[in-house]
Amino acid sequence: MLNVTFHGVRGSTPCHGPETAKYGGNTSCVAVQAEGQRPLLLDMGTGLRYFGKNFLATSPTPLDAVALVTHLHWDHIQGLPFFAPILQDGARLEVFGPVQEDGSSFASAVQNAIKQPTFPVGLHDLRGKFQFHDVADSVISIDGYQIISRLVPHIGPTVGYRIEFGGASIAYISDHQQPYDGSFAVPDGVRELVEGVDLLIHDAQYTMEEFADKAHWGHCTAEFAVGIGLACRAKRVALYHHDPDRTDDQLDATRACSASAGMEVFVAREGVTIAL
Ligand SMILES: [Zn+2]
Ligand SMILES: [Zn+2]
Repeated sequence: MLNVTFHGVRGSTPCHGPETAKYGGNTSCVAVQAEGQRPLLLDMGTGLRYFGKNFLATSPTPLDAVALVTHLHWDHIQGLPFFAPILQDGARLEVFGPVQEDGSSFASAVQNAIKQPTFPVGLHDLRGKFQFHDVADSVISIDGYQIISRLVPHIGPTVGYRIEFGGASIAYISDHQQPYDGSFAVPDGVRELVEGVDLLIHDAQYTMEEFADKAHWGHCTAEFAVGIGLACRAKRVALYHHDPDRTDDQLDATRACSASAGMEVFVAREGVTIAL
């Protein structure tokens, strides 16, 4: 069985206040836990900090986890320097992420993002140990999980992941550029990630009206996310990477309009765990 917990469901930048309190204001981070395996952390946005707090409150041993990172935009890595478990002796984090456009490694890109003057210390000043791996269109062997990554259209090198364990499957596509004309074409790599999965977690940043103004900003509509799920016969779709301006009332209304899609569609919400 796989337990999937949403720790951060926003895109772009965190948000807070009474209008967004129900679905939550932290940026992208989902934890996947299979019994007897290391936890998989999908992206390291500000939601990672809350996974870390819970981990420290419940685990008697230092962190030993795997992070699958889609890309380097702030909303996907900003939780890392505030991830308390990695400040402990004996902690270990194995991190997978996309090789960069100039051929440089994901490791060097993260090291360049987390250092002075934008952060007081560098990654190597933290007490835990990191092990980095580059991915593109890759097959990844980790513990008992079967994982593939595929490049996904966005802005800059970006991947999505498909994770299988014990007959359960998840596709994670946090940021996905919808075709500029608003059409619903499914790239081959995306189809490989999503075909027949139990749960698709997918970018749903914009309304149709917003997409008309922001077609080149790297994201897609909730309708496109549902269309990808239907085209690839996903069983459930979690609408994810909500715009920071999207209110709880608007997200509630999104759920209502998606119910007729003939597939279970729900709006991802911080703190919710799904068992697969
Ligand atoms: Zn993002
Ligand atoms: Zn992005």
